[in-house]
Amino acid sequence: MATLPLTQLSEDEILFRDSVLEFADHEIRPRVREMDEHAAFPKDLLAQLFGLGVMGIEIPEAFGGAGATFFHSVLAVEALSQVDPAVSVLVDVQNTLVVNALNKWGSAEQHERLLPRLASGTVGAYALSEAGSGSDAFALAARATPTDDGFELTGRKLWITNAHEADIFIVFATVDPSAGYRGITAFLVERDMPGFRVGRKEDKLGIRASSTCELILEDCRVPRTAVLGEVGKGYKTAIETLNEGRIGIGAQMLGLAQGALDHAVAYTKQRRQFGTSVSDFQGVQFQLARAAMEVEATRLMVYNAARLRDVGAPFLQEAAMCKLFASEVAERTASLAVNLFGGYGFVKDYPVEKLYRDAKIGQIYEGTSNLQLQTIAKGLLG
Ligand SMILES: Cc1cc2nc3c(=O)[nH]c(=O)nc-3n(C[C@H](O)[C@H](O)[C@H](O)COP(=O)(O)OP(=O)(O)OC[C@H]3O[C@@H](n4cnc5c(N)ncnc54)[C@H](O)[C@@H]3O)c2cc1C
Repeated sequence: MATLPLTQLSEDEILFRDSVLEFADHEIRPRVREMDEHAAFPKDLLAQLFGLGVMGIEIPEAFGGAGATFFHSVLAVEALSQVDPAVSVLVDVQNTLVVNALNKWGSAEQHERLLPRLASGTVGAYALSEAGSGSDAFALAARATPTDDGFELTGRKLWITNAHEADIFIVFATVDPSAGYRGITAFLVERDMPGFRVGRKEDKLGIRASSTCELILEDCRVPRTAVLGEVGKGYKTAIETLNEGRIGIGAQMLGLAQGALDHAVAYTKQRRQFGTSVSDFQGVQFQLARAAMEVEATRLMVYNAARLRDVGAPFLQEAAMCKLFASEVAERTASLAVNLFGGYGFVKDYPVEKLYRDAKIGQIYEGTSNLQLQTIAKGLLG
């Protein structure tokens, strides 16, 4: 069989992508500004996302999911992000981190118990970072003390996406701080478990409708069945899911850049100065052409990393590169869109001001740009 071009989608992928794009255009676009201003994610929109089938993309059909691929998650995140990157990150975390980790590391019992819920109405969150451990994630301080029938979790997690909406949390804690990263263990914590509480919600620069909260664990008793994977192997779960999650952030930034470019093209065609459309000026055309080239390069990198992951080929370098590049292109393209909207780019009545604010997070979460460079350099230099 001939190898397909990277950006040529199958019939099923086109149908899926177009259904998400249409949903984003009709159901999300009219609400973007209000959601951003109120920094809130409406419950009914959440229900619609479950109805659309984008909250359990890789969950097997037997458990109520779509039984699709990681690449489908990337398509959904990209499409949603063209309209609102705050909505896309909720979907991204659910699929590329939470469902992904559970699919790979969960026991048969955990699959049966949790996957149907995640496919049908329960939001998940992924809690690794703490106040004192961000880039140095394995310096985490949250403790898991063994009890007769499980573990007692104590500590605090910071910056946890989806925490306001979530009922299932993958929480990383150490069973033995003296063991370093070999003590880290992943736990499936439910919102109603005694001793668990969602704390303060952050007031952010961008992706404001996406919740980012602190988690507080005070003698939170969890059964042994809450351990995801093996005790002391949580570092492996974290590394492997975040490597894949990075491709999702690449997709989020790709969609954002495409959205900003689309706005810039439409606006410059319609805006008239010096008796002609602004897009008639070669200086503007060349800026748009350069942005289009960068968006295309980003798409190739993101799609390639996702397709490598789906066929089980190594993708560590490609994931780091696509996340780093996509986040830079998103910032550049959103900035250009603001410039090309002139004064209208600087106010909230037009969508590009928000995309410019939203772009910044791509260089921070799921490994800062410096950490992506570190991964790439390590691959390069050994
Ligand atoms: C909106 C938002 C959502 C988030 N969602 C989640 C989530 O759902 N789950 C979760 O677990 N975490 C989440 N995070 C946390 C995020 O992953 C961390 O903020 C990120 O990893 C950076 O950690 P830090 O903030 O502690 O920065 P630091 O690690 O303190 O970094 C500060 C600066 O130092 C640089 N730096 C650090 N180490 C090195 C080095 N070795 N070489 C060169 N430069 C270095 C960094 O690049 C950065 O510029 C979220 C954060 C935000 C802001």
